[in-house]
Amino acid sequence: MTDAPVRTDPSERMCPSTPKANATVFLGMITPAGRVAYVTPPLAAEVALAGLPDPTEATESRYRLAGPCVTSSCGFWTGDHCGLGERLVASYQETGVPDEAALPRCAIRRTCRWYAEQGPAACPACSHVVTDAR
Ligand code: SF4
Repeated sequence: MTDAPVRTDPSERMCPSTPKANATVFLGMITPAGRVAYVTPPLAAEVALAGLPDPTEATESRYRLAGPCVTSSCGFWTGDHCGLGERLVASYQETGVPDEAALPRCAIRRTCRWYAEQGPAACPACSHVVTDAR
């Protein structure tokens, strides 16, 4: 796979768990243990998905994709923040807030909606998420 330009406008927040139809960045793969193996540096979703041996298997249950946060067009939007990111952090509270240095290397931290709103606690929770594309 080759690197390709990825949308990085800092004024735009990225959703770290978006369906294929809205994806601009290939965030990572779901491991057999159900955790996300993040891919860096940023890789354009269309390039990554087209390079898979069987693109029909490029489902949201196997890969994590990121794309522009659509705010009020998403059912998780509360009116001023992402309710899913908030819920995830509450669910994984027992893992505590990690040091910045211990965070997984991911491609979208600078613009990630969950990180911007929830801080470093978002990242351990994020690594357990499998996108529900229904
Ligand atoms: S929550 Fe953290 S690990 Fe997940 S995409 Fe955002 S910055 Fe990356």
